[in-house]
Amino acid sequence: KQGVVLGNGVVEEKMELVELEEHLQDVRETFKSGKTRSFSWRRRQLEGLLEFLHDKEKDIFKALKQDLGKHQVEAFRDEVGVLIKSVNFALSNLKKWMSPQKVHVPLSFFPASAEVLPEPLGVVLIFSSWNFPIGLALEPLIGAISAGNAMVLKTSELAPASSNLIANSIPMYLDNKAVKVIEGGQNVGEQLLEHKWDKIFFTGSERIGRIVMMKAAKHLTPVVLELGGKCPAIVDNLSNLRDRKVAVRRIVGGKWGPCCGQACIGIDYLLVEEKFAPILIDLLKSTIKRFYVDSDNISRIVNKQHFQRLCDLLNEPSVKSSIVFGGSSDYETLKVEPTILINPPLEALIMTEEIFGPLLIEFITERPKPLAIYAFTNDENLKQRIIAETSSGSITFNDTMIQYVCDGLPFGGVGLSGIGNYHGKFSFDAFSHGKAVLRRSFLIEFVCRLSCPPLWTSIEYS
Ligand code: NAD
Repeated sequence: KQGVVLGNGVVEEKMELVELEEHLQDVRETFKSGKTRSFSWRRRQLEGLLEFLHDKEKDIFKALKQDLGKHQVEAFRDEVGVLIKSVNFALSNLKKWMSPQKVHVPLSFFPASAEVLPEPLGVVLIFSSWNFPIGLALEPLIGAISAGNAMVLKTSELAPASSNLIANSIPMYLDNKAVKVIEGGQNVGEQLLEHKWDKIFFTGSERIGRIVMMKAAKHLTPVVLELGGKCPAIVDNLSNLRDRKVAVRRIVGGKWGPCCGQACIGIDYLLVEEKFAPILIDLLKSTIKRFYVDSDNISRIVNKQHFQRLCDLLNEPSVKSSIVFGGSSDYETLKVEPTILINPPLEALIMTEEIFGPLLIEFITERPKPLAIYAFTNDENLKQRIIAETSSGSITFNDTMIQYVCDGLPFGGVGLSGIGNYHGKFSFDAFSHGKAVLRRSFLIEFVCRLSCPPLWTSIEYS
């Protein structure tokens, strides 16, 4: 059902343009009133988010089970726990982030001082995706609140239970004059994009990202695009058996653990030397069997449409023959078995499209810049070469996914995997404008006089 919820939990069949306009007016006026700028308002909202996460933990687990079949440990590890960490990090750094940063001033301006003062951008629009429907909705909100903005969050229609929970509960915990949650799909998204925003923060596909950027261009609205792509992992011929086992555990855990491979930073394919491939594949197979023997340990595909998309990728005859492990699927439960393919045809869709599911490929080629590159190796030269010769949103050595929870690192893509970044202080910056403030006194006019007529005519310039 397409519709909209604006803080009261009522889904309406069709969003009335007039009604939307009224709500936008509401957030604009709230921002204009200046209340979102104060430290105490920002802190109160962050505390409200924490209260929401604590009070509604069980409801969040239930919603994530309903939308994606996530186990509650997975739900805590990938969404609730990550958010609690991020809110606490913002709370303990907020004062520092809000303070102006002194900068050097040329001596010739003396006496003078200068600083960069972070100011909120205004009213921002946030789109979130369905695969981490709580985490990816609230993580950017932390940045937007910390930076003192008013905001509209559009949740994903493909995770309706999570979307409903956020729309119904967030208004009880946050200032509902400054933070609006809107539910709906493409139709609602398109309507929102017709309006003028001070920033659009979008998490989703490259295809819709292009639409967002085109619409934003009309008002010269800056955007952050958190997109996807194919993330490779390079696996060196690890000679130490223990290292091999650790690497494979981390590959298998990182690939199929978070949302059954439906993660933007999930590994899409492995790059491995041919002679090492059989050893690696054997280890992968035994680890997959050990980790996911119980199908409750793995989430399900989000809906029938995405399930069909994955089956179609696999069912191309030339692709099917490259499956060396797994490949089965169950339409009733929407589960797809962890699957490994070796040397599938380069022109097959599975090699050109983002997989976003539990299929892992071994393949070496040139690709668009990925969101993440992983490499498992002890070879420092290889690490240096990967850093120097590739471009990607991030590089992680000897593990997967963990860069997402490192507050000191920016999270975002480059090229086709995205524009801009967030997390920790980077989230604060993404939703702030660094205003240059220069203060000079009326004293000491000598230099100025030299640079103004008529004195400058007496200076010989060469
Ligand atoms: P999507 O692009 O289909 O949808 C994203 C959002 O845009 C949703 O809220 C959706 O309702 C809205 N939308 C859809 N069509 C629209 C339109 N025509 N106009 C305006 N809004 C519209 O993406 P998705 O299916 O939700 O997510 C999957 C994609 O997101 C994958 O490509 C994945 O890699 C990427 N992703 C990236 C990150 C990241 O952090 N970089 C995280 C998760 C997912």
